[in-house]
Amino acid sequence: MINFIKKYRKNFFLSIFIILILIIFLINYYFISIETSVSLNIPYIWSDSISVKKDYIKWIDFNVNLEALNATYKLDVESYESNFHYNWIELLALLACKYGNNFDKFSQKDLDSLAKQIKENGSISETAKNMKYYDYYYEAYSAILCEFLGVRDDETYGLKAFLPIAKNYSFSHYKDFGTSRSYGFSRTHLGNDLMGSIGTPIIAVESGTVFHLGWNQYGGWRIGIRSFDGQRYYYYAHLRKNHPYVPNLEEGMSINAGDVIGYLGMTGYSIKENVNNINVPHLHFGMQVIFDESQVDTSKEIWIDVYNIIEFLKKNQSSVYMSNKETKDYSRTK
Ligand SMILES: [Zn+2]
Repeated sequence: MINFIKKYRKNFFLSIFIILILIIFLINYYFISIETSVSLNIPYIWSDSISVKKDYIKWIDFNVNLEALNATYKLDVESYESNFHYNWIELLALLACKYGNNFDKFSQKDLDSLAKQIKENGSISETAKNMKYYDYYYEAYSAILCEFLGVRDDETYGLKAFLPIAKNYSFSHYKDFGTSRSYGFSRTHLGNDLMGSIGTPIIAVESGTVFHLGWNQYGGWRIGIRSFDGQRYYYYAHLRKNHPYVPNLEEGMSINAGDVIGYLGMTGYSIKENVNNINVPHLHFGMQVIFDESQVDTSKEIWIDVYNIIEFLKKNQSSVYMSNKETKDYSRTK
């Protein structure tokens, strides 16, 4: 440093200026290091965006069980018109903090006491203030569930998202998220398989824009729908050979939650189009959460375990009818 100053002795102001820049840089570096070390245990990373330095979530282990989904949903919906409206996402984030993301510990008693505490405090912020990961869980669960509840077409408040299998069509599924798959390269299963009959009408879970449509080596005939806020991508794969989609479906088109989009089948696992190479007819349903565009189409994709979400969505099924007897196409019952 002394040599550095000597070198610029003849230009004193320039050296002062350079030293100041160095100090500012070091102070800045120090604060970023603190932030990074604080968040070491939670899945945030720094964006390498030059214009806006922000952090975003890079992974979610969605462990909320059916019991907790049902209980918080009930509290939210039942309090909607009362003078204190509970938000199920806030409640779930509090529970995740309380249980360290282990929802096997969930009890209605704990939820009731949290709800009582929130009401007494008058807001969530007082209750959440000592919970280190509250903001993380709130942001993660909002990204997943923010469009599930709301005012519906009939102006009532409740569940707006639909089961991806049409009403009165049976299916079975099991907890298969993360199990290994052997076709192609070694990889894990990033969704939930819903086993049903070929031709079962497939329903859009949430409204959004058709993002992908057509053949994919793994998914066969598939539809990818991105939510209007861009945070969720729904993947419906292995659709029926010869007649995978409802007529006139195309990329860029808007879809409403509850609409019929296609038909269950067994296509996929082939480079060649329109090939049935899956042993058991099923819908592969996947849900990807996106916090930053750098998480799209890369190994940084966040797919969540939707098994409990499928169970939860059984309470809202779209009823359909055959709207075209010639083509055997189905539409939702209005
Ligand atoms: Zn699958």
